[in-house]
Amino acid sequence: MTVKAYIGLGSNLGDSFQFLQNAIDALQQQPEISLTSVSPVYQSKPQGPQDQPDYLNAVVEIATRLSPQTLLQCTQSIEDHNQRQRTGERWGARTLDLDILLYNHTIINQSDLVIPHPWMCKRSFVIYPLYDIAPELILPNGKRLQSCLADCPNDDLTILDRELLWQSEASEA
Ligand code: ADP
Ligand code: MG
Repeated sequence: MTVKAYIGLGSNLGDSFQFLQNAIDALQQQPEISLTSVSPVYQSKPQGPQDQPDYLNAVVEIATRLSPQTLLQCTQSIEDHNQRQRTGERWGARTLDLDILLYNHTIINQSDLVIPHPWMCKRSFVIYPLYDIAPELILPNGKRLQSCLADCPNDDLTILDRELLWQSEASEA
């Protein structure tokens, strides 16, 4: 069964735009994943520790036959291939962070995998790019994404005028 899922991408170490592009390229190379949409790139101030560079964030929509756990292994392996150091510090600086935001309407509460991603509705750098590519989305709890957006101040978010490169594979999904 093919499932629609959304993945949040973030980076604030090194060449952040390039790390986001690397994530897009790596996702496109997965035979079991088809990219169906890619948001603009947003720049934001860090949450948590403030002594770190600004973040770049984007959200992608994929069609996949991978299970949630296998998708997590895949996204973690992409992080590992992009110099991600696992320091254990929550919200610390990172070269590349891939968070599974939504997996159809599935709700998962496992020790290593929580979907919908916790706090996604509180994070403007997730909600704004997600809204750009899926304005009609309804969350598993029945709430409209549009109403999450209305409740979420846009903080200091700005949109970069540089876009991530990708090729639509929608017809192959
Ligand atoms: P955050 O992205 O919240 O800053 P981290 O990326 O450092 O935190 O957290 C990584 C851990 O989060 C991983 O060990 C992974 O098992 C767990 N995790 C739980 N739910 C998810 C999810 N939906 N997507 C990605 N990682 C998740
Ligand atoms: Mg993460």
